[in-house]
Amino acid sequence: MSDTDLAERFAREIAAEGPMPLVRFMAGANAHYYATRDPLGAEGDFVTAPEISQMFGELIGLWLADLWTRAGSPQNAHYVELGPGRGTLAEDALRAMRAVRFEPPIDLVETSPVLRRMQAERLPTGRWHDDFDEVPKGGPLLIVANEFFDALPVRQLCRDENGWRELSVGYGDEGFAPVMSGPDLTALVPPALRDAEPGSVIETSAATTAVAGALASRLAEHGGAALVIDYGYEGPALGDTLQAVSRHAYADIFAAPGTRDLTAHVDFGELARIGREAGLQVHGPVEQGMWLESMGLGARTAALAKAAPHCREELIAARDRLTNPTEMGRLFKVLAFTSQSWPDPAAF
Ligand code: SAH
Repeated sequence: MSDTDLAERFAREIAAEGPMPLVRFMAGANAHYYATRDPLGAEGDFVTAPEISQMFGELIGLWLADLWTRAGSPQNAHYVELGPGRGTLAEDALRAMRAVRFEPPIDLVETSPVLRRMQAERLPTGRWHDDFDEVPKGGPLLIVANEFFDALPVRQLCRDENGWRELSVGYGDEGFAPVMSGPDLTALVPPALRDAEPGSVIETSAATTAVAGALASRLAEHGGAALVIDYGYEGPALGDTLQAVSRHAYADIFAAPGTRDLTAHVDFGELARIGREAGLQVHGPVEQGMWLESMGLGARTAALAKAAPHCREELIAARDRLTNPTEMGRLFKVLAFTSQSWPDPAAF
């Protein structure tokens, strides 16, 4: 399906059925977007931490290997990654893990055929799944998700003079545009936030709750850990965090669906609640900058710069981009789950 086919399908659906809830618009637009292109890198729409520096994936690999070793080196553990992009993080993490003779089977949860092909070049022994539930049951899992949850669709409830209603997408002469529609949904808003000012927005992501719930109950049953890294906040909280990014710049959220990256900030308060409810230990969220520094990013930067002096400036710039509070250091958060029988992880 071409980009214009998707826009036409959305327009026809809205003409037939009325405004489309944002959550459906975002789900359909992102599924098309990721299925039809590689969005990463300087030539694409956005750059992620593993694409900035190999040190990011290596430190995650060391974190996993340390935890696995202290858990008694269970031989049936699997490496699982959600939304692995180009496979860069997995490649760097697994290389670091090999140094301590940890070479687990690789299970990748990825829906995009374009990105699956790129991942297969770097991770030829990987196995691919459309959904986390398809990851084989058995041994403990070491799960990584970097910039995965932000791509999952959100619902937005908006406060007007009378109550809370759903944000939907209409279609008219000006193209796609946001409209408020449907019944009063005040009952869905946490009581403490119901009396917010008109114009306030609250976001919920049923998809995030479902995926996080599935991985938390798997960890509780079979053991292991998960590391979630993303931009986000600790809710429940008000705020419209929906954004569209195209060619490294913010773009219109509603125009040209499926051609730009639609994301929302991740509610780490909700992730933590899900982990605790499943009986897991929850660590963080902590800021990405602090987490990487306590994992030894400074020492790793110095060691690589010593080995390759011509790359010194580049390595220092990468460290700054990953950790500076005005860059990725503060907005990005790191949260971990560990099962009850596993040790406490490093760097929290
Ligand atoms: N983790 C990578 C890529 C982040 S982009 C990195 O840090 O570079 C988001 C990734 O999630 C892409 O691989 C995309 O194809 C995948 N993805 C998005 N929605 C998904 C879904 N519903 N199920 C599985 N994978 C999804």
